[in-house]
Amino acid sequence: MAKTKAIMREVTMPSKKLVVWLEEVRNTDIPIVGGKGASLGEMISAELPVPRGFVVTAQAFREFLESTGIAEKLFEGLKVDVDDAKALDRAASEAKKLILDTPMPESIEKAIREYYAALCKREGGEVYVAARSSATAEDLPEASFAGQQETFLNVRGADDLVKAVHDCWASLYGARAIYYRVKQSFPHEHVNIAVVVQVMVDAEEAGVMFTSHPTTGEDVTIIEAAWGLGESVVSGAVSPDTYMVNNKDFSIAQKKIATKQTMIIRDKKTRKSKKIEVPEEKKNAQVLPDDIIVRLAKLGQIVAEHYGKPQDIEWAVKDGEIYLLQSRPITTIQKREAKGGLAAGEVILEGLGASPGVASGKVKIVQSMGELDKVLDGDILVTKMTTPDMVPAMKRSAAIITDEGGMTCHAAIVSRELGTPAVVGTMDATRVLQDGQVVTVDGEKGHVLLGSLKKPEEKAREEAKATVAPATKPITATEVKVNVSIPEAAERAKATLADGVGLLRIEHMILGLNTHPKVYIESGRSDEYVAELVKGIRTVADAFYPKPVWVRTLDAPTDEFRAMKGGEGEPYEHNPMLGMRGIRRDLRETEHFKLEMAAFKKLFEMGYDNIGIMLPLVQHPRELRRAKELMAECGIDLEKVDVGIMVEIPASAIIIDEFIKEGIDFVSFGTNDLTQYTLAVDRNNELVADLYDEMHPAVLKLIEYVIERCSKAGVKTSICGQAGSRPEVARRLVAMGITSISANIDAVEAVREMVARTEHEIILEAARKKVV
Ligand code: PEP
Ligand code: MG
Repeated sequence: MAKTKAIMREVTMPSKKLVVWLEEVRNTDIPIVGGKGASLGEMISAELPVPRGFVVTAQAFREFLESTGIAEKLFEGLKVDVDDAKALDRAASEAKKLILDTPMPESIEKAIREYYAALCKREGGEVYVAARSSATAEDLPEASFAGQQETFLNVRGADDLVKAVHDCWASLYGARAIYYRVKQSFPHEHVNIAVVVQVMVDAEEAGVMFTSHPTTGEDVTIIEAAWGLGESVVSGAVSPDTYMVNNKDFSIAQKKIATKQTMIIRDKKTRKSKKIEVPEEKKNAQVLPDDIIVRLAKLGQIVAEHYGKPQDIEWAVKDGEIYLLQSRPITTIQKREAKGGLAAGEVILEGLGASPGVASGKVKIVQSMGELDKVLDGDILVTKMTTPDMVPAMKRSAAIITDEGGMTCHAAIVSRELGTPAVVGTMDATRVLQDGQVVTVDGEKGHVLLGSLKKPEEKAREEAKATVAPATKPITATEVKVNVSIPEAAERAKATLADGVGLLRIEHMILGLNTHPKVYIESGRSDEYVAELVKGIRTVADAFYPKPVWVRTLDAPTDEFRAMKGGEGEPYEHNPMLGMRGIRRDLRETEHFKLEMAAFKKLFEMGYDNIGIMLPLVQHPRELRRAKELMAECGIDLEKVDVGIMVEIPASAIIIDEFIKEGIDFVSFGTNDLTQYTLAVDRNNELVADLYDEMHPAVLKLIEYVIERCSKAGVKTSICGQAGSRPEVARRLVAMGITSISANIDAVEAVREMVARTEHEIILEAARKKVV
């Protein structure tokens, strides 16, 4: 408590006011009204068109903490290890609860009500206002906490406004905000919050404006404009029009008119923002007339000159009048080097380089499915972990960054197949990065760098590389195949000139339906489900025909399938990796296995004789036997189809002879699982990732033994785990006598080269021995 009082004395308040009018505020008042409040006050004093309002000061917030006596308890509760996500979330929700459960002192509530009443009187009726949090650090007036605290729009009536201010206060203790302050070394006790209350403009057109180019710093104004309220542009929910204006003569240098599908308006009944479809005639129309574009750009220059720095301004237009809603310095401008190249960026985040390539773009943090629309072409998708519903957004993304995951997580597999750079397992991306921030993702090194570092010519070179197939390929005795998980990647996979598909995972296809197979079965729509499987598998089988495509039957962990519609019934398991997945699940849920077989039967009838069937996570020959019985019952002619097993449990490697006796055409090493089960290292757990070693002698010994036994028996051997994409592993496997190697799309070429080199070495060595 004593500490808080001392801090209060450090604040140089010109007045002891709990609430102040915006027009009374100047830039030097940041400690009282926060950066946002001070900036608006400054703009009003410069006679810029800013909607009127007032600020509930930081002093009011401190008064709240002190007079209610909660300060000590609050700050004590924030002493947590912010790298422990659970502890951080707990501390955040306890702090928020403490704030919200503590009633606002009467003096503050009374002041808010009085100012609101006066504002309504000035505006001629009960007005809608926005309540925007404006945080500030006392000792660092320049500190930017943008986007970390909440804003409440469309607030009307004194009761709702008092509640909105209280909610803004609580948002000072969100997990992301706490984390950011600790990492930036701002003591929580030194951070205050003011709330700006401002009349809402019922915008007909709105957007943002950068008074200099936000990434290159060029002397042009960039205006992004959309129909309706500005939220759609700020959140990235629509593709706005983009206009570029030369700052020297205010000529319009460029206009890009986007197709605007949706707009946000204020719903008259609910008073909430509502997304609606843009009327047909406005979808492709230019949002702002040229004269408004020029007026806006001129206003932007006045603001930038006023502050002495390029600004990022939110604006709105109503009845032809321009309003400036907010202005802050642009933080993303990169300085140009003397020779014209872009300055190297700072690495702000590290993770696993899961899909190669370098890409720059705007960060879009996706916390829930409802936010996927905000990811536009060329953005950087940042999320905890991707899911199959995210694939369309992943396709639009220039790069992907996740908090969680390893080299074989969903994000890694899909990004590689899409050819999109990805960094996974960063732990903190959704907390450290900020929406709209421009970053560069290096999917090779696993780095995220600040700013846009990608030069256009590099981009073009890489795009060319990504789409053009190798002109020639070395002929290798060991076949080099490719892994596919999403049918959309079939053409990219084909372009590698691979010798076939060594693993086609069907889980991603099914997860992509976002409806649990059980729902199809129970609602009598099994045919529809079979048709989906046929469609997906056929796309790949067609692309590769007549080269072999080994399709794996369902390997569905309960935790992943629970997320689907109708997946609520999936059992909760202590360790899903050791539980109901792979063939053991298919043999219990035979109604599903039978649908898979129905799909295969249909494909065979259609003439796809290049399809082989592979069984995952087989542990005992009786599983193989039972699966084959079921296949035969479903009308699959086992004489005509290649059937194989994944070797991914040490048990099946050790008793491989028993499987050979039971009858198999091929085996494929699922080293992702074989490594985790041999070494007792959860493949998805970053905490033990350092112990995960696909080249551990025990793993290699199991593989060598299986290759030796299978070679003797004339059974083909292959690898489809991630290890097969590493040239150094490929080298070892060729030396052991493996029949084929199946790699990720991006790795096929390098693996093929290594296979060819190794084969030549073996031949050369043998020849030399003969000569000697
Ligand atoms: C493996 O385990 O190596 C494998 C290819 O299967 P998945 O990654 O789908 O478990
Ligand atoms: Mg596996």
